[in-house]
Amino acid sequence: MTSPNTASSRPIIRPDKDHFLSEENPFEAMMSRFDYAAQKLNLDAGLYKLLRNPEKQITVSIPVPRDNGELEVYTGYRVLYNTSRGPAKGGIRFDLNVNLDEVTALAAWMTWKCAIVNIPFGGAKGGVICDPAEMSATEIERLTRRYTSSIIEILGPDSDVPAPDVNTNERVMAWIMDTYSMHKRHTVTAVVTGKPISLGGSLGRREATGRGCMFMTREALRRHGMPIEGARIAVQGFGNVGSVAARLLQQQGARIVAISDKSGGVYNEKGLDLDAAQAHIKTNRLLAGFTGGDAITNDELLKVPCEVLLPAALENVITSKNARDVQARIICEGANGPTTANADRILDEKGVFVIPDILANAGGVTVSYFEWVQDRGGYFWDEETVNSRLERIMVKAFDEVTGMADKYTTSNRIGAYMLAIERVAEVHRLRGIYA
Ligand code: NAD
Repeated sequence: MTSPNTASSRPIIRPDKDHFLSEENPFEAMMSRFDYAAQKLNLDAGLYKLLRNPEKQITVSIPVPRDNGELEVYTGYRVLYNTSRGPAKGGIRFDLNVNLDEVTALAAWMTWKCAIVNIPFGGAKGGVICDPAEMSATEIERLTRRYTSSIIEILGPDSDVPAPDVNTNERVMAWIMDTYSMHKRHTVTAVVTGKPISLGGSLGRREATGRGCMFMTREALRRHGMPIEGARIAVQGFGNVGSVAARLLQQQGARIVAISDKSGGVYNEKGLDLDAAQAHIKTNRLLAGFTGGDAITNDELLKVPCEVLLPAALENVITSKNARDVQARIICEGANGPTTANADRILDEKGVFVIPDILANAGGVTVSYFEWVQDRGGYFWDEETVNSRLERIMVKAFDEVTGMADKYTTSNRIGAYMLAIERVAEVHRLRGIYA
C-alpha cells in the first residue's frame, strides 16, 4: 500500500487551480452579483448572512484500490448550499481542479437557478479530486460507489439528488443509483437524475438545456420585435448545448451564421448546413477542416455580425477586451459564466440584451426536476409533454426575470439574482428560524 497522493508522481492538484481565486473567476463574479442584487433588494442583514453561507459542507476521503493493486485515496466533497425550498439538487464532477470553494460556489449557483425557474429544489454540488482520463472504467466505478456510500446519509429523493456534471455521465448516475438502492434494500430511481432512459431517466433530458436556450432566444427576439425567421445567430461551442440550440433555432427559421468547437469556428453569412457540419464532426471528431464556410477563430466568432450570440462552450469568453466588438443585440448564455463582470458593464452601456446563464441554461435542471417527479410518481411522460412543460416554465421565468429587471431598472442578470434571492428569502421568512 502507498501513502495518499504518492502512488506515483501524478499531480493530484493542478497548479492552475488558483484560477478559481483570480479576478475574472466566474464564481467570484457570481457572488459579487449576488451581493449587488441583495443590496438592491434591501435584504435584511440577517437573511443576507444566512444566504451568503452554505448550509452543510462534507469532505470525505475515498480509498480506491487501483487495478494495479495499489491503494489510492481521493478527496471528495458534497455541499448543500440551501435546502429551504426543497431537496438539494446539483451535479457531481470528477476533476483535478475540484476544490471546496468552487464546489460551494457552484452549489450556491444551483440554489439561485432552481429558484428562478421556481422548481421545488435547493442547491447542491459535489466533486471528487481525480483525473478520470487516467482511470479505468472499473476504477471510476469503485470511486463512484465508495464516494456514494461515504455521503449516503445526506443522499435521497427527499434530501439530496445529484446529477451529472464535468466528467460524469449517465453511467456514473446508474452506479450511484445502484449503490444507494443496495443500501436501502430496494430500488430508488429518484435519488439521482440524468440516468439512462431505461433506468428511470426522462425523455428530452439530453436536449433540455439547448431547447431552453432556444425558448429564451425566441422570447428575447419577440420582446425586441425582431422576427426569428432569418435572424442571424452565432453559436460558440457545438457540443450538447450549442448543437441542440442551433438545430432547434434553425428549425424555427433562424440562420445559424457561425459555429465553433475547441478546434476553431466557421462562418457563413448565408447560413450553415448543420447536418453537414455534424457529419464532418462525426468523421473527424472536430470541426476544423469543415468547408461549409470561412474558417474563423473562437474570438472572431464573438464579433461576427448577428442578431444573437449564443456562447455555449466555456466561461470567461466575453471579457472587457472583446465586449465592445460584440455586434449582437442579444446574448443567450448557454454556458455557465461566459461573461465577466467587466464585460457586463460594457454590454449594458451598449444596450445588449443579455439572457443570463442562471436563466438561459436552466432547461437542464428543469427537466431533471421532471425526471425526479416521474420517478416518484412511477409514471413516465411522452417527450411532447416534457417539452411543452419545459416551455411553460422557461417562458414564465423569462417574463419574471425581465419583469424584475424592468421594475428595478437593472440588467436581466441582476433581475435574475433579485428574483432568486427574494424567493429563497421568502421561504426563510415563512418558515422562521428553528432555534
Ligand atoms: P460539451 O462538452 O458537450 O460541449 C462543449 C463544446 O465547447 C464542444 O463543442 C467543445 O469543443 C467546445 N469547446 C471546448 N473548449 C473550447 C474552447 N476553448 N473554445 C471554444 N470551444 C470550446 O458541453 P455542454 O454540455 O454542451 O456544456 C457547454 C456549457 O454549457 C458548459 O459551460 C456547461 O457548464 C453549460 N451547461 C450545460 C448543461 C447541460 O445540460 N449539458 C446545463 C447547464 C449548463
